[in-house]
Amino acid sequence: MVGGVPIGGGAPVAVQTMTKTETANLAATMEQIHKVAEAGADIVRVAVPRDDDIEALKTIVAQSPIPVIADIHYNHTLALKAIDAGAHCIRLNPGNIGGPDKVAAVVERAKAAGTPLRIGVNSGSLPKHLLELEYSNPVEALVTAATEFVALMHRLDFYDFKVSMKSTSVPNTIASNRLLSEKIDHPLHLGVTEAGTRWTGSLKSAVGLGTLLADGIGDTIRISLSTFHAEEEVKVAWEILKALKLRERGPVLIACPTCGRLQFDMDSVVAEVEQRLEAYDDPLEVSILGCGVNGIGEARHADFGITGAKDAGMIYSKGEPLRKVPTDRLVDELFAEIDRYYAAGKRVIRDEAKAAEAAAWLAEHEDATALTPERLAAMEAAESAANGGGEDVLAALSEDVSPVAGRRFKRAGSV
Ligand code: SF4
Repeated sequence: MVGGVPIGGGAPVAVQTMTKTETANLAATMEQIHKVAEAGADIVRVAVPRDDDIEALKTIVAQSPIPVIADIHYNHTLALKAIDAGAHCIRLNPGNIGGPDKVAAVVERAKAAGTPLRIGVNSGSLPKHLLELEYSNPVEALVTAATEFVALMHRLDFYDFKVSMKSTSVPNTIASNRLLSEKIDHPLHLGVTEAGTRWTGSLKSAVGLGTLLADGIGDTIRISLSTFHAEEEVKVAWEILKALKLRERGPVLIACPTCGRLQFDMDSVVAEVEQRLEAYDDPLEVSILGCGVNGIGEARHADFGITGAKDAGMIYSKGEPLRKVPTDRLVDELFAEIDRYYAAGKRVIRDEAKAAEAAAWLAEHEDATALTPERLAAMEAAESAANGGGEDVLAALSEDVSPVAGRRFKRAGSV
């Protein structure tokens, strides 16, 4: 447990970030902690490089809405003081804290206070005896450093810790955590260190952490981005967890990539919908299709969605048309429908006349020859019923030929 947050043992993957303020600047640090907590951080880490930071830490721990980890390097007395200050966890790199005796002193104090530790190994600060191995086999070097520190903790009869191994290399992050997860039974904290800007860092983290999380490896994550806005790291972490369906938080927006069939300003619509959805806490799924060419079957799981054309568009729910609206009112009417749904106790309110008008609009705009999933299923069912089997259908489909009408269908849409 880090404060009230369980780590490992099947608990939800916890989202962490680190404040970027000088910790001793209490007002700025607390402001950032509130921002990241609001964005969904379960745990926050603060750097504690000076005695001034220890003073601030006491207040931060008392006032923070989420558990606080003190990040300590080089100076084991700061780790002792951070434990005394009530930090919910101490992040320690045993490789740079001054030797096993200093580590033992910190462990003794942590045990007495019931404070968990995070044993952090970074590719940039491995113990000296592993530097040669780092050149020839960086993954082996990281894992060896981690397992040596774990063994040290066990010799000190201390087990209340998680482990992290961070590297700037995505392949090494993946390989080392896979290897370590087979060797030890402690929770793992994942991160790609110094990942880069919001754009590149998010992608590197999504690939590295996403691969591991999809394997079931990782109990807490931190996205390291070169931005002063720590809440951005939290948002990226949540998108990774949501994409893997590991956790739910707020709405999920689905939007087509657009193509030459688009006839309205979808960029602005998507941006506005995304921004307005931030006001909702539910894991509502909202889909935006740039046109009706494929019907709305591909968005049939969406709780609500819109599809547009030049002058008019349509609002739908769970794959069923709700009503047709002018394109410039699409977003407002979408949110009116969503609010109506909540006001009715999460029940979709359908006006049959308006739904019929919308269905007619869709029929006019969709491509009746497009091989949508629904049409494929219907064709298979029809063929199966006629022939007592579906093999001919699949063979015919692989040639892009309709087995029902014997005519060539075009595969419309590019989603
Ligand atoms: S065909 Fe597909 S990708 Fe192109 S605008 Fe329509 S829904 Fe979007």
